[in-house]
Amino acid sequence: VTLKILGCNGAIPAYGRFPTCQIIELNSESIMIDCGEGAQIQFQKYDVKSSRIKYVCISHMHGDHYFGLIGWLTTQALLGREKPLYIYAPAALKQIITMQLDYALPYAVHYVDIIEGQAQVLLDTDKLEIFAFPVDHSVPTHGFRITEKFKKRVLLPEKIAQYEIPKYFLSALAEGKDYESMDGRVVRNEIVTTAGKPSHIYCYSADTAYNENIIPFIKNCNVLYHEATYLSNDIEKAISRKHSTATHAANIAKLASVQRLIIGHYSSKYEDVSPLHEEACEIFEACDYALEGKVFEVG
Ligand SMILES: [Zn+2]
Repeated sequence: VTLKILGCNGAIPAYGRFPTCQIIELNSESIMIDCGEGAQIQFQKYDVKSSRIKYVCISHMHGDHYFGLIGWLTTQALLGREKPLYIYAPAALKQIITMQLDYALPYAVHYVDIIEGQAQVLLDTDKLEIFAFPVDHSVPTHGFRITEKFKKRVLLPEKIAQYEIPKYFLSALAEGKDYESMDGRVVRNEIVTTAGKPSHIYCYSADTAYNENIIPFIKNCNVLYHEATYLSNDIEKAISRKHSTATHAANIAKLASVQRLIIGHYSSKYEDVSPLHEEACEIFEACDYALEGKVFEVG
């Protein structure tokens, strides 16, 4: 699983930083999370293949998280996209997008409404799960948990020969099934296979005030992206605007026992974001900071 940052700034673009947009790739699927203004420029700059994006998740209806979508959708049409697109977003997004288009896009766009205030599974396939969980922001907002589905079990050829398992059953073995022969002999799966690579989990907690209620949803994930709009000396501002400080982000990461924390969504008042990173690292050492073009391995 990889995470590519295309935009990591707060509401106003600043110092070359763009509003929120990121791309997750896993099991040969591509997901876009939020689509701030200028996202399609970032797609070009950082060489992201637009046509590969199949799922778009929009966390909330603040412009810095979706103003890039209309341009990106239109460009997709101009580039001849035919593949359908799935957009998971608050219900209002569909209206806003369709109002701006006086023609139908030449590819299907399926809108799936995220139900306000609820934790919910948005998508569940054999490759991945997208789960949305409510956070605490000034408008209804959801974070996303993206789980790479369990990889197939690894076959052990010598054992398979030894136990005389027929070829036609090998794909079932990879899926974890036990083998039973015609004469009723049972070979347990773990004798002839070993576990595949473990699933990896990426969590994006969107724009949120410090909120311990999200911990059950993000617990033990491989990577948590948590906003750190402000330094702690601006905590009043963070509280009144329903954002977090770097210390808040680090405390949540620590309480949720995540493997790595990535901070982002910086206020445009900061030209240099390293003080935010340093503040978070003091509490939670396994901490990186987002910047445009950075790519992170999840897991
Ligand atoms: Zn917001």
